[in-house]
Amino acid sequence: MNEKRKIRVATCSLAGCFGCHMSLLDIDEKLFDLLEMIEFDRTPFTDIKHCGACDIGIVEGGVSNAENAHVLKEFRDNCKILVAIGACAINGNVPALRNNIDLWDCFQEVYLYEGGLEGNQIPNDPELPLPFDKVYPVYEVVKVDYFLPGCPPSADTIWKFLTDLIEGREPKLSYEMLRYD
Ligand code: SF4
Repeated sequence: MNEKRKIRVATCSLAGCFGCHMSLLDIDEKLFDLLEMIEFDRTPFTDIKHCGACDIGIVEGGVSNAENAHVLKEFRDNCKILVAIGACAINGNVPALRNNIDLWDCFQEVYLYEGGLEGNQIPNDPELPLPFDKVYPVYEVVKVDYFLPGCPPSADTIWKFLTDLIEGREPKLSYEMLRYD
C-alpha cells in the first residue's frame, strides 16, 4: 500500500530574531507528531540551501536587504501557501525601527560614532547583501496567504494553525491565540 504523501514545509528567517522559530520548537514533544505529517525542505532545522517545491512556506522577519528579497521570492515561487509569521514579517516590528532614520546616518551611528566595534569601519565587503533604505513587511514584496500575528505567536497557536492547514481546514484561532504583542 502507498504511504500517504507528507506535506512539505519550508521555513526561513529574514530580518527577524529567530524567536518565531524558537516558538515553533516550543511545541516540544508534539514535534514528533508534526514530523509524522510533514517533512522539512529548506529551514534552519535542515542544511538545505534553496527552497524546493513545497506545500507550505513559513517566513519570519521583514525584508531588510537584497538577500532577504531573493530568499522571499524563491519561497513565493515554490510554496503553494505562504505564511507570514510574527510581527517582523507582518509589519517590520523591531528591525523597522530604523525606517525613520537615514540609512547612512544609521550606519555611521552604529559603526563609527558608538565605538566599541573593532576598527570603527562601516562593513563594505562585497559579499555582504545590499541593505535596503527601510525594512519592508513581507506582504509589500510578495503575495501572502496567511498572517500569524504575535511576537512571537505561542507554540500552541503555531500548533493549532499548522495542524488546521496540514489537515486541509481553514485555520481558526481563538481570540486568546491572536496576540499582537
Ligand atoms: Fe523575533 Fe518577535 Fe520578530 Fe518573531 S516577531 S522574529 S519573535 S522579534
